[in-house]
Amino acid sequence: MKNIKEIAFGPVPSRRLGRSLGVNNIPPKICTYSCVYCQLGRNLKMSKIRQAFYDPEDVFNAVKIKVEDVLSRKEKIDYITFVPDGEPTLDINLGKELSLIKTLGIKVAIISNSSLIDNPDVQNELMGFDLVSLKVDAVSNDIFKKINRPFKGIELDNILQGIRDFSSSF
Ligand code: SF4
Repeated sequence: MKNIKEIAFGPVPSRRLGRSLGVNNIPPKICTYSCVYCQLGRNLKMSKIRQAFYDPEDVFNAVKIKVEDVLSRKEKIDYITFVPDGEPTLDINLGKELSLIKTLGIKVAIISNSSLIDNPDVQNELMGFDLVSLKVDAVSNDIFKKINRPFKGIELDNILQGIRDFSSSF
């Protein structure tokens, strides 16, 4: 099993999410973008192909152990949040991990850069979350390309339409 500290961290205080226990469901620095402001630096492994990174049971067990530890200290957890150092929807096991983590009875959130939101599988998986944060930095293609430097084939128009489609039913 992966090191628990690598997969589950916190809880950390968040303005929007209260006390948020973080889930690193992908290894660091794997992203669909290479944003000019990224704190991870420029040596990201870029991709737009969803893939398996960890065994979903390992992710669940790491989160469960962390949750039990936090609750045993009488500390509060408002959300369990998928917020890795990269793009969480690149994880093809996202839906499986979410189903397992929901059995813990705590609300689950995800913070995404929206790049794969036009993918119907991603939309279906995100429907299971209690809170979905879809971020966009720009609504003009020029600025999008300059700021986010997306992986080849990721188009702003598709992202904006994907957000409209998802938000119409979420
Ligand atoms: S989306 Fe986030 S992780 Fe990805 S390059 Fe931009 S700032 Fe870095």
